[in-house]
Amino acid sequence: MPLWSSRNRTETVTCLACGDDIARDEAREYDKHGDRWDRADKTFEHVCKSCYGDLCHQPRDELEELLVELEAGETDRTAFLSAYLTTVEERYGRVEEEQD
Ligand SMILES: [Zn+2]
Repeated sequence: MPLWSSRNRTETVTCLACGDDIARDEAREYDKHGDRWDRADKTFEHVCKSCYGDLCHQPRDELEELLVELEAGETDRTAFLSAYLTTVEERYGRVEEEQD
């Protein structure tokens, strides 16, 4: 995660679910109104359009609990993503890829 700011470049964020770097303009904020993770600009507060659609099919409360359970933001991101995807698959079934 670069700490430099990039005023003249497209700001990118990392998708919570798939880990892709995406333009902030293209990202969907997740849990914008939640206070669980305070106001810090954490990467797991953004998801790409595709994943956002998937996430919206799942019960929001459960998903938030899941994120807390997996210690989102506290564990290594790669480990978190892996655990997240595994857990989601176990609980909700495989996330199907959607075509644009
Ligand atoms: Zn994604």
